[in-house]
Amino acid sequence: MRAQPPAGRPGDGADALFGPEDLDTGPASRPYEGAGPMFRDSPEARRMLSVRTVFAEPAAAASPRGRQVLARYPDAEIVPVDSHWRIPDLHGNEGNVDRWVRIKTETLVLGEKKTLTTRPNGRSADWIAPGPANGCAMACAYCYVPRRKGYANPVTVFTNIERAVAHLSRHIARLGPKPEPNQCDPAAWVYDIGENSDCSVDALISDNVADLVDAFAKWPTAKASFATKFVNPDLLLLRPRGRTRVRFSLMPQSDSRLLDIRTSPVASRIAAAADFLDAGYEVHFNLSPVVLRPGWEGDWSLLLRHMDDVLPARVKRQAAAEVIMLTHNQDLHELNLGWHPRAEDVLWRPGLQQPKRSENGSWNVRYRHDVKAGAVATMRELVAAHAPWLRIRYAF
Ligand code: SF4
Repeated sequence: MRAQPPAGRPGDGADALFGPEDLDTGPASRPYEGAGPMFRDSPEARRMLSVRTVFAEPAAAASPRGRQVLARYPDAEIVPVDSHWRIPDLHGNEGNVDRWVRIKTETLVLGEKKTLTTRPNGRSADWIAPGPANGCAMACAYCYVPRRKGYANPVTVFTNIERAVAHLSRHIARLGPKPEPNQCDPAAWVYDIGENSDCSVDALISDNVADLVDAFAKWPTAKASFATKFVNPDLLLLRPRGRTRVRFSLMPQSDSRLLDIRTSPVASRIAAAADFLDAGYEVHFNLSPVVLRPGWEGDWSLLLRHMDDVLPARVKRQAAAEVIMLTHNQDLHELNLGWHPRAEDVLWRPGLQQPKRSENGSWNVRYRHDVKAGAVATMRELVAAHAPWLRIRYAF
C-alpha cells in the first residue's frame, strides 16, 4: 500500500513506504550491532537481572530470539516448561512472597505469545498492542501488572516478536491515517507497547523493544508509547525518528523510595528526558500514581518545581503528562502485608477509598469520588502553578 504523508518531524526519514510485505520476519534482527559496550552488560544492569534459572518453552528456547536471550545468561539452568503460563514452581506458591525480589532478579521465562490482540484504550494510548514481555524485574508495591505467573511475576520474554510486528503492521495498515486529533496524539495512532512490563528493563534482556522501536520508526501513521520507571541508556542507541513516545513515570522521591522498589531514582528519570528527546524519542511524563497521604501536595509541588528548574526548553515544548490517582487492590494489599507492610500505610486508606469489583472478580479500591475529584483538581492547580508548560493530556 502507499503510505500517507509522514506525521514525524521534517527530515526525520519517516517517509518510507510500508506494508506487511516489507516486514522482516526472518531471524532475529541485530539493531545494536556495532554499538560498542552496552549498558545491559554493565554491573548495574547485572544487579537488576542476574539470571540463574530460565523456564523455557522448547520452541521459544530454540527460536533465534530465545537463543539470543539464553546466550546472555550462559550459566543459567534451563528448565523446560509446557507453557509460560503454567509453571508450578512459580505459580500459586505463596511461600515465594519471602523471595519476591530474588525471583525477579534470578528468574526469566521464555515463551511464545499465542494470541495477538490489539485493543482500544483511549487514555494512555489509542490502542494497547501486544508487548515484548510480560512481568517485571522491578517491584512497585502498587503494580497492577497481573501476577499470573505466581506472586513474584518475573519477566517472560516473548520470543516471537516478529509475529507481533507483523500483526501491528496489518493493524496500522488497516486503520489508515488518523482521521482527527485527540488527546493521545494530534496526528498518529498511538500504540502502548508496555502495558504488562517495563520496556526499559525488557531491553536489558533482548532486542524485542529495539525491534518494535525500529518498526514504528518506519510506520508514518503510528507511534509506539511506553511508560517507564527505569533509565536504560541502551535505548539511546536506537533511531526512533520521533515515532516512539517514552513516558517517564514520576512521583515525589519520598513516595518513590517507599513504593517504587528497584526503579531508577526519580531525579535520574527527569535528567534523562533531554537525552531521550535528542535521540529521537518524544518524551512525556506520567504523573502517577498520585498517592494521597499527609503532605502529598507539598511534595508534588517540589517535584514539579524541580522539573521546571532542570528540564531544558526543548523538552518542555513537546512535553505532556497524564495524571493518574492510585488504584489499589485488596489481594495485593494482603500480599504486600507479607513482604512490604510499610507501603500499605500509605496505599491502604479505607477512610478515603471505596471498593469496586473488577472484571476478574477481585476487589479494587479507588479514592472515593469526592476525594478523587478534589485531588485531581489540586493536581491540575499544582501543575498550572509550578510547571505551566506541562500540558495535561488527561487526569483521572
Ligand atoms: S515498573 Fe511498572 S511493571 Fe514494573 S513493577 Fe513497577 S509498576 Fe509494575
